[in-house]
Amino acid sequence: MERFRGKKALVTGSTSGIGKAIAIKLAMEGASIIVTGRNESAGCEVANYIKNMGGAAHYIKADLTSYNEIDRLLENALRYLGQIDILINNAGIEILRPITETDMDDVERLFRVNFFAAYYLMHKVIPIMREYGSGVILNIASTAGLSPYPGGGPYCSSKAALIALSRVAALENAKYNIRVVALAPGLVETPMLYEGVPRDLQPSYLDSLKEKVLVGRIAKPEDIANVVAFLCSDEAWYINGSVVVVDGGMIAGRRESGNVPPTGEK
Ligand code: NAD
Repeated sequence: MERFRGKKALVTGSTSGIGKAIAIKLAMEGASIIVTGRNESAGCEVANYIKNMGGAAHYIKADLTSYNEIDRLLENALRYLGQIDILINNAGIEILRPITETDMDDVERLFRVNFFAAYYLMHKVIPIMREYGSGVILNIASTAGLSPYPGGGPYCSSKAALIALSRVAALENAKYNIRVVALAPGLVETPMLYEGVPRDLQPSYLDSLKEKVLVGRIAKPEDIANVVAFLCSDEAWYINGSVVVVDGGMIAGRRESGNVPPTGEK
């Protein structure tokens, strides 16, 4: 299936986790990809993997906390791609700390990555998409933006803001044939999920998290990438300004014990 033949996509935070899986998925379906993130060797590895699999990809290093670096990223991305049909705002960081204990510099840094970078990229890329006559912007939010938890002050707020921004952008740009969608993953097995958890405790930590998920297992990055690919495709043309929750039923509501499939594996 080549749903994205001839399409050009910029995927932020694609050196790792969910972004990496999205970059690979879109590339394997025909899109040319800009891989970006701070880790150069990881980024080159993703781009080389895509090229070895017959796809087209180019890595550009950028720290999204700097508007200058975002400008440079866009300039280089347009030089390589010529156009951006699909923008995936995926880069993100997390802080888990009560409001009274957060350092304001950390809160600002988190908002720079999770919200302002996405805002600035949309501010810059939407005019390009308008001129071209179409586009899809997909913002990776989180169920944290819909169903907050203690300790999630900065993270939950940044994701709620990203959801609101996605809706506003959809309202402002439907007439230009640009769709904007927010995707809210639940728990996904990536480096972010394990942050601060010692390696030997990770398996038991993962087991404890499974309890929260109706389908009985934590998502793989590929589970999210599959939905992203659908949402970016023409088949999803009727989905605009939506928040698509991909969480294995985690925030569906209260549930009785024993209501989870025995293995949770597919
Ligand atoms: P990850 O840590 O594996 O990847 C994060 C990516 O963001 C990396 O590529 C990293 O380089 C990039 N990034 C971070 N700070 C950056 C900066 N200053 N400049 C440029 N790039 C930067 O985490 P992930 O789980 O793959 O997270 C991807 C997205 O999914 C994030 O927005 C995250 O909030 C969201 N999310 C993750 C989960 C989960 O359980 N893992 C759940 C819901 C939402």
